[in-house]
Amino acid sequence: MARDIKSIGILNLEVKVIKFGCFEMGRRKRRTTLPVRKRRKSAFFRCPVCQHNSIMVELHEKEGKAVIKCFNCGLVEEIEMKPGETKVDVYTRFFDSYIERAEGA
Ligand SMILES: [Zn+2]
Repeated sequence: MARDIKSIGILNLEVKVIKFGCFEMGRRKRRTTLPVRKRRKSAFFRCPVCQHNSIMVELHEKEGKAVIKCFNCGLVEEIEMKPGETKVDVYTRFFDSYIERAEGA
Protein backbone atom coordinates (compact mmCIF):
# COMPACT_ATOMS: atom_id res chain seq x y z
CA MET A 1 0.00 0.00 0.00
CA ALA A 2 2.75 2.41 0.92
CA ARG A 3 4.47 1.66 -2.36
CA ASP A 4 1.36 2.56 -4.32
CA ILE A 5 1.07 5.92 -2.68
CA LYS A 6 4.73 6.69 -3.35
CA SER A 7 4.53 5.77 -7.02
CA ILE A 8 1.44 7.89 -7.54
CA GLY A 9 3.32 10.75 -5.98
CA ILE A 10 0.42 12.40 -4.24
CA LEU A 11 -0.12 13.08 -0.59
CA ASN A 12 3.47 13.48 0.51
CA LEU A 13 2.24 14.04 3.98
CA GLU A 14 0.54 10.69 4.03
CA VAL A 15 3.72 8.93 2.94
CA LYS A 16 5.52 10.61 5.80
CA VAL A 17 2.88 9.47 8.21
CA ILE A 18 3.14 5.91 6.94
CA LYS A 19 6.93 5.98 7.29
CA PHE A 20 6.63 7.33 10.76
CA GLY A 21 4.10 4.65 11.59
CA CYS A 22 6.47 1.91 10.46
CA PHE A 23 9.26 3.43 12.49
CA GLU A 24 7.08 3.53 15.53
CA MET A 25 6.03 -0.06 15.08
CA GLY A 26 9.61 -1.17 14.66
CA ARG A 27 10.62 0.54 17.85
CA ARG A 28 7.75 -0.83 19.79
CA LYS A 29 8.40 -4.34 18.59
CA ARG A 30 11.96 -4.24 19.83
CA ARG A 31 11.10 -2.90 23.22
CA THR A 32 8.18 -5.08 24.14
CA THR A 33 6.73 -8.27 22.80
CA LEU A 34 3.37 -7.79 21.18
CA PRO A 35 0.51 -7.96 23.66
CA VAL A 36 -1.64 -9.87 21.22
CA ARG A 37 -2.82 -12.73 23.34
CA LYS A 38 -5.44 -11.91 25.85
CA ARG A 39 -7.06 -14.58 27.93
CA ARG A 40 -10.58 -13.92 26.85
CA LYS A 41 -10.46 -13.08 23.20
CA SER A 42 -13.76 -13.22 21.43
CA ALA A 43 -12.87 -14.22 17.94
CA PHE A 44 -15.59 -15.12 15.55
CA PHE A 45 -15.18 -17.63 12.80
CA ARG A 46 -17.12 -18.33 9.68
CA CYS A 47 -19.95 -20.81 10.03
CA PRO A 48 -19.97 -23.56 7.38
CA VAL A 49 -23.73 -23.93 7.81
CA CYS A 50 -25.04 -20.38 7.55
CA GLN A 51 -21.93 -18.63 6.22
CA HIS A 52 -21.97 -15.95 8.88
CA ASN A 53 -19.03 -14.92 11.00
CA SER A 54 -20.79 -15.97 14.12
CA ILE A 55 -18.93 -19.05 15.29
CA MET A 56 -17.59 -18.95 18.80
CA VAL A 57 -15.10 -21.52 20.06
CA GLU A 58 -14.93 -22.40 23.73
CA LEU A 59 -11.93 -24.36 24.86
CA HIS A 60 -12.26 -26.71 27.80
CA GLU A 61 -8.72 -27.88 28.16
CA LYS A 62 -9.27 -29.74 31.41
CA GLU A 63 -11.94 -31.87 29.81
CA GLY A 64 -10.00 -32.17 26.58
CA LYS A 65 -12.82 -30.87 24.47
CA ALA A 66 -13.96 -27.75 22.72
CA VAL A 67 -17.45 -26.48 22.05
CA ILE A 68 -18.22 -24.73 18.82
CA LYS A 69 -21.32 -22.58 18.72
CA CYS A 70 -22.92 -20.49 16.05
CA PHE A 71 -24.92 -17.54 17.30
CA ASN A 72 -26.70 -17.17 14.03
CA CYS A 73 -28.05 -20.62 13.17
CA GLY A 74 -27.72 -22.29 16.56
CA LEU A 75 -25.22 -24.91 15.50
CA VAL A 76 -23.52 -26.57 18.47
CA GLU A 77 -20.67 -29.00 18.03
CA GLU A 78 -18.47 -30.69 20.54
CA ILE A 79 -15.04 -31.70 19.38
CA GLU A 80 -12.12 -33.16 21.25
CA MET A 81 -9.04 -31.03 21.54
CA LYS A 82 -5.42 -31.75 22.23
CA PRO A 83 -3.51 -29.84 24.87
CA GLY A 84 -1.99 -26.65 23.53
CA GLU A 85 -4.39 -26.33 20.65
CA THR A 86 -5.71 -22.88 19.93
CA LYS A 87 -9.19 -21.86 18.93
CA VAL A 88 -8.00 -21.57 15.37
CA ASP A 89 -6.69 -25.15 15.42
CA VAL A 90 -9.93 -26.47 16.83
CA TYR A 91 -12.03 -24.44 14.43
CA THR A 92 -9.97 -25.59 11.45
CA ARG A 93 -10.43 -29.22 12.46
CA PHE A 94 -14.14 -28.70 13.01
CA PHE A 95 -14.49 -26.98 9.67
CA ASP A 96 -12.65 -29.75 7.81
CA SER A 97 -14.67 -32.48 9.48
CA TYR A 98 -17.88 -30.65 8.74
CA ILE A 99 -17.01 -30.35 5.07
CA GLU A 100 -16.08 -34.02 5.00
CA ARG A 101 -19.38 -35.00 6.54
CA ALA A 102 -21.30 -32.67 4.27
CA GLU A 103 -19.63 -34.17 1.22
CA GLY A 104 -20.10 -37.71 2.46
CA ALA A 105 -23.81 -37.23 3.10
ZN1 LIG B 1 -24.26 -20.75 11.58
